[in-house]
Amino acid sequence: MLNSTVLLNDLSLDTYYPIIHTQNKETKKVKNVILLIGDGMGFSYTTGLRYFNHHSRKGFMNPTIFDEYFVGSQSTYSLDTDCNITDSAAAGTALATGYKTYNGALGLNIDKEPVLTVLEFAKYRGKSTGLVGTSQINHATLAAFAAHNENREQYNQIADDYLDERIEGKYKIDVMLGGGTSYFCRKDRNLIEEFVYSRYGYVTDLQELISNKNEKLLGLFAPVELPKQIDRDSTIPSLSQMTKAALQRLKQNSKGFFLLVEGSQIDWAGHDNDIVGAMSEVKDFEAAFKEAIEFARHREDTIVIATADHSTGGMSIDRNGNYKWNPGVIKAITSTPAVIAEDLHRTKDILKIRHHIHFPLYEEDLNSLQASLEMEVEDTRQLLINMINDYSSTGWTTKGHTGEDVPIYAYGLHRSLFSGRIENSDIAKILFNIMD
Ligand SMILES: [Zn+2]
Repeated sequence: MLNSTVLLNDLSLDTYYPIIHTQNKETKKVKNVILLIGDGMGFSYTTGLRYFNHHSRKGFMNPTIFDEYFVGSQSTYSLDTDCNITDSAAAGTALATGYKTYNGALGLNIDKEPVLTVLEFAKYRGKSTGLVGTSQINHATLAAFAAHNENREQYNQIADDYLDERIEGKYKIDVMLGGGTSYFCRKDRNLIEEFVYSRYGYVTDLQELISNKNEKLLGLFAPVELPKQIDRDSTIPSLSQMTKAALQRLKQNSKGFFLLVEGSQIDWAGHDNDIVGAMSEVKDFEAAFKEAIEFARHREDTIVIATADHSTGGMSIDRNGNYKWNPGVIKAITSTPAVIAEDLHRTKDILKIRHHIHFPLYEEDLNSLQASLEMEVEDTRQLLINMINDYSSTGWTTKGHTGEDVPIYAYGLHRSLFSGRIENSDIAKILFNIMD
């Protein structure tokens, strides 16, 4: 276990941190950084979005917001001696610190030494900082930017670090929005009360988020992760609403800010091979990216970068040589398989499927769904996932991560530095160089 106090003494701006020095003629430094990470969002997901947004089976497809700002790609591999495919902690650490490391590590190099993150660097420079995501806010990717731990699963310790670790006496993170009440309000410690005592605002639903005016803010909208966008009711904010709320606060600092926004559950849908959940989360992420671009559009001091940490599931647009991927099927489904399965089991009424799936299912599929109601909810959920993959002709090769390079999209000052093929660790190295 790492001792936070020792750690903070170890990390300062005098510590070595890796920088890429460039021949860039533009010498102006960046005031505001918005980094968006679509967890698991490989090329097939953003290409899938282009098909999904297209309203016909034919004709020229309009570019997505991602296509408009595409600049290059990055490697994702970690330095793990056992695995050459990364997890989200190692990839998050590379993106956050400039060090590739072993799977499971948060904010540590391969020798398990704590290393400075770009979020911490920003704080040292007097900027404001924010973490926004749809998982619990102490989950791997977000935590890689704001904590240092040998094990990504030490959720309580990571939540404690968000409050306890200080940068030159200041709280490390000014705005935190996402899920995770169960880690922040525990039997042994109530971090929510401590944050409120430390003059943070605390909000738990969309209405409170909109009406709260506190500059420092903790918003926890679920015990662990938020429901997927497609399953959310109107009390839970979208990723873009959280991004907007964070930007409204962070921009008040005249020295600028660093904001990390994670589309956390694109990856989880990929692990489940659930194309409805995957497109739901990519859409949520697309809207957040638009919000960030909108913020940066009329400024000359801001960089927006969107990328992924790795891809998940080996998702393919079409399978079995059909030559007919059918996103119309996915668009005609209005809940994730998990929610549909829960509903069918609760009501024991197979016709309830019509509330969620707005196209006729084959008789034999209805029969197998009916039969699955005698089994576990998980059996029905799995059956639905397989059926939807059949109807939409979506392919998957694994329930895990895959090793291909992932896209980088960028807009604003110094965007060209992220172009071409770079290493994931280069993202942090460039940010250390260009941040004011
Ligand atoms: Zn994953």
